[in-house]
Amino acid sequence: MINMKHMKLLYTGKAKSVYEIDSDTVLMEFRDDLTAGDGAKKDTKSKKGALNAEISAKLLELMEDNGIPTHFIEYQKPNRHVAKKVEILPLEVICRNIATGSLLRRYPFKAGQKLSPPIIEMGYKSDEYHDPMLNDDIALALGAASSREELDEIRQITLKVNRVLKDFLLPRGIILVDFKLEFGYDSSGKLLLADEISPDTCRFWDAGTGEIMDKDRFRQDLGSVVEYYEEVKRRILSQI
Ligand code: 5GP
Repeated sequence: MINMKHMKLLYTGKAKSVYEIDSDTVLMEFRDDLTAGDGAKKDTKSKKGALNAEISAKLLELMEDNGIPTHFIEYQKPNRHVAKKVEILPLEVICRNIATGSLLRRYPFKAGQKLSPPIIEMGYKSDEYHDPMLNDDIALALGAASSREELDEIRQITLKVNRVLKDFLLPRGIILVDFKLEFGYDSSGKLLLADEISPDTCRFWDAGTGEIMDKDRFRQDLGSVVEYYEEVKRRILSQI
């Protein structure tokens, strides 16, 4: 087990802290903090960080097994990942299979409407500007991406993540409603899927009951946040 006391803190996000292990690797600590509304609403739920670390480890391994390169190296119980150090692009790449959340506040979709083909949306990662939606011209002009080809590659990888994740979750009784990805470049210039795939960054609905099993429980004050994350973990780790 790595001792974090002597490690340099590189970055503290809203739910994770990132420490430097060496020039190529980092230690990501998944904290129990929950935030919503660009940090306006905050709470702490015991065990949430560990649950997300374990769920995300399994789902990032699933991506690697399906040929999607990620920054993930190793899960360390209870709440840490060892990962490749990457230069994160300031993009939030969102993929939607069902209309809900901010989409309904911005466009006249019906709640629960199926989106087929899925919608991919890119946002500029900035709490100050509330992650505004980008088009390719804005992303390039801002320097958030370096070429149209890079943006196309990110969209293709995101669609593949969606297919793999949907097909993995449905037999486990979970509908993948939407999710947010982040990408980065490692020191050799390789584009990697980074950050996490967890109930903090995805919407998961119970395929039988339609119940919400993700961070919307916190956003909407539905209660039992950790209990539902536990259930997501149980289903994701189950051998079916
Ligand atoms: P929406 O745009 O509807 O709020 O979110 C769409 C999807 O992206 C949801 O699964 C949501 O959890 C995820 N998402 C969007 N922005 C963020 C963000 O800033 N942080 C996290 N953790 N997830 C986000």
